[in-house]
Amino acid sequence: MLKIRTWLMNQSLARKLTGMSLAAGQPAIVIAAILIMAYDGTSSRQRLVRDTGMLAEVVASNSTAALAFGDAQAAQETLRAVAVNEHIVWAAVFLNDGTLFARYDRSLAGKGADAAVANSRGSRSAPTGPSALPADADAVRRHAARETFVQDALLVTRPIILVKDPIGTVFVQSDLTDLRSRAIRFGTIIGLVLFATFWLALFLAYRLQRIISSPILRLTNVTDQVTVGRRYDLRAEKSGEDEIGRLIDGFNGMLSEIQNRDALLTQQKNQLEQTVELRTSELRHSNTDLMLARDRAMEASRAKSEFLANMSHEIRTPMNGIIGMTELALDTDVNREQRDYLETVKASADSLLAILNEILDFSKIESRKLEFESIPFSIRELVANMVKPLAVKADQKGVELLYDFDPGVPAAIVGDPIRLQQVLTNLIGNAIKFTPHGHVLLEVREDARQEGSTTLHFQVSDTGIGIPADKHATIFEAFNQVDGSTTRRFGGTGLGLTISSTLVQMMGGRIWVESELGAGSAFHFTAGFDTTEIVMPEAPEAPLLVDLPVLIVDDNSVNRRILHTQLTRWHAQPTAVDCGHAAIDALSTAATAGRPFRLVLLDVNMPDLDGFQVAEQIGARPELSGSTIMMLSSSGHHGETSRCRELGVSAYLTKPVPAEDLHAAICRVLDRESKVSTETRPVRRSTGLATRPLRVLLAEDNVVNQRVAVGMLARRGHVVTVANNGIEALAALDRQGFDVVLMDVQMPEMGGLEATTAIRDRERATGAHVRIVAMTAHAMKGDRERCLASGMDDYLSKPIDPAKLYATLELESTVTGPSASAEGPTRSAVPIDRDELMERLGHDEPLVVEVIQLFLADCPKRVDAIKAAVDRGDAEAIRTTAHALKGAAANLSATGLHEAARSLEEMSAESGPEAAQAAWRQLAIEAERVMEFLRTLEKSLAAELSATSRHW
Ligand code: ADP
Repeated sequence: MLKIRTWLMNQSLARKLTGMSLAAGQPAIVIAAILIMAYDGTSSRQRLVRDTGMLAEVVASNSTAALAFGDAQAAQETLRAVAVNEHIVWAAVFLNDGTLFARYDRSLAGKGADAAVANSRGSRSAPTGPSALPADADAVRRHAARETFVQDALLVTRPIILVKDPIGTVFVQSDLTDLRSRAIRFGTIIGLVLFATFWLALFLAYRLQRIISSPILRLTNVTDQVTVGRRYDLRAEKSGEDEIGRLIDGFNGMLSEIQNRDALLTQQKNQLEQTVELRTSELRHSNTDLMLARDRAMEASRAKSEFLANMSHEIRTPMNGIIGMTELALDTDVNREQRDYLETVKASADSLLAILNEILDFSKIESRKLEFESIPFSIRELVANMVKPLAVKADQKGVELLYDFDPGVPAAIVGDPIRLQQVLTNLIGNAIKFTPHGHVLLEVREDARQEGSTTLHFQVSDTGIGIPADKHATIFEAFNQVDGSTTRRFGGTGLGLTISSTLVQMMGGRIWVESELGAGSAFHFTAGFDTTEIVMPEAPEAPLLVDLPVLIVDDNSVNRRILHTQLTRWHAQPTAVDCGHAAIDALSTAATAGRPFRLVLLDVNMPDLDGFQVAEQIGARPELSGSTIMMLSSSGHHGETSRCRELGVSAYLTKPVPAEDLHAAICRVLDRESKVSTETRPVRRSTGLATRPLRVLLAEDNVVNQRVAVGMLARRGHVVTVANNGIEALAALDRQGFDVVLMDVQMPEMGGLEATTAIRDRERATGAHVRIVAMTAHAMKGDRERCLASGMDDYLSKPIDPAKLYATLELESTVTGPSASAEGPTRSAVPIDRDELMERLGHDEPLVVEVIQLFLADCPKRVDAIKAAVDRGDAEAIRTTAHALKGAAANLSATGLHEAARSLEEMSAESGPEAAQAAWRQLAIEAERVMEFLRTLEKSLAAELSATSRHW
């Protein structure tokens, strides 16, 4: 049903209207036809009844006489009259008793039998014929006038009346063929009429529905075009003022409205497009302006970087002079006040250089010229070396500098050690700067390890002034400081954290701070490194340390924690106490319990009882004296070592002590338990003589720099020839051979790069190769590459650091230099091995003092004698005088002087006066250094002798 309904609904409007018209008209026609047929059938039957009845009545009245007279023949004749009606199939006359009197049978007519009567009178036998009498026997008997339709016949009976009395009955049977054929005919005509009217109706309905559907279809058509083609200018055609006409009017009205709005919209769109075009062209203009401005800014930035590089050069050149000259002046015999001044100059110049470096780094970051190296290094070694100078600074403020490595931190990593050190130095330097008392602690642990790489987490915490929460983010911005006022207590550029933060980002990590005002700060940063298979030296196995009872005495809780953790890692059994009194108590208790502490790690700087006093008390109580004492000092003050010796302290270490160093020192001390040993770790300056004097050609135009470089090199025992520019350098190289050329890059007439290219060109013919080391105040990206590309072997940036200078010059010369030869034992950086001297003289201080005084009186004479022999060119005299000095130097453990004298002694006549002069200069310098050292030693020993009568 639903399907039919849906099907109907989906039909076109024309079909629906046509269908509806047919559905409304056709049933009426069909009903009318049926009614007409019914009416016609009824009236035909009535007519048949009437005709047959009249015929029967005629027969009845005509048969009265025949019946009254019993004349069957006459009755027969009368009956034969019915033959006119072709539909009468049978007719009969019955007597009142039902006896057949006469009959007519159409089927027998013409065969002579139609008047057959069984007995002419009174025969009671039933007539034979096709129609059964019994069907109307009742009517016959009762002389009723009756019409009865049976299956295919009409039976009519009429009484035969004689003077009001019935004397018989006429029976007529008519067939119904007439009725049937009429019905068929009529039905056919009706059918034809119906058929014709159906098609007519269909035709008319179809034609008429168009009156309604056509305007609607036109409307639909227009709607489709409007929908698909957005043709709001189209209008539907109206065909009348009916509802559809009104609908079309409404639709057209809507279209007009839409068309108007569309026109308005198009107009507005056009206006908008014009506005956008206008704005775009304005934007294009301003973009062009901006690009020009950007190009100008980039140009300005490049100019700024260049300016910074040049300024750096300009500032570094005089700085080189200031720092170098100050160092040289400090090496001379200056009085206390002058030394004070000079040291202040040096410190100021150093901090000026640090600021300069920060600004240069910042400009490199700004101009994206910062480069990163990727080399394997030991992070522990890096930190150990880095904290030494910082520890001195911390100690000057009374702040303790500590550090701790988690054992999980890999031994060797690959990255840029210089940049990592820069970040750590900045954070620790800041922490020291902003911590008036307490401690600064660096902790290193591993955050994550992947195949071939590691992420390390560094934390620098302090007990300083802290940072307010609202400044936590801004301090990482350039030039930002918590206290930005002009009256601030702490100096600084405000660039350190910005640089650190960039460096950390470049190392694939992040930096952040946790801090509260007045409650210290903790700076954290992470950094990613590759790991390497390079095996770094590990702490030796130390069975001696296993289960060793150790007493840690330190007032600083963090330090106690670190030492405790380290000793626990080494399987010792540490106990930590926080003051001298507690230490004495712990030692007595352990001794009484029969398990004395084998080792005491004693902090020097403690309130109440300091480390020395504790050591003294231990020494004074024999029951406690079995322990080995190691002193840990953060100050490294002059005189502490000797106090340690006096007190029988086995080792003296300067904090912060690298874990490996502490481990090694403990092992050494325990190993030589019976001996008294000391371990000193002062920060030394590498001012010893070189293992072999080099012939150095210094190409440098600046006189101050010449003076500094010559001073540094001569102090190291090298022979220097100065050239003022590249041309002079080439000439000098033509005249004589050199082991190394120190080449300034910027020089008048011929710069370092051109000179180097010229030297290398010439060498191509001879196959020789002189080592050329660049010296430049430029510190920008690409300088090094440019120098190396021109043929230089190495690169030093100004101001020249003596240690770097010596390392760079001497490193390779001992291997590849043209005059390389097998050398004697390496000389010490200090002129005399004090320990060895003391040992040699049995730690007899008065004797040591006496020997020193003798040497001081004797040495200048011997040096003068050698000088005279050298000047005379008297090889034999040189040999004997040098030999004598060599012996004296050996007695004093002055290995450097001993070596210098030996090389003079071994110098033959062929060596030439120049070599002899050079060797003498070296010897004279070394002799001066030895005497200087001995004078100081003599003074300190004399003072100690007068202060105490104790011997050690
Ligand atoms: P600088 O130290 O040269 O001023 P930095 O960028 O290194 O510049 O530091 C920026 C500021 O952050 C410092 O001026 C200081 O105010 C604050 N700051 C840095 N470290 C600490 C610290 N450990 N404790 C307190 N304040 C700190």
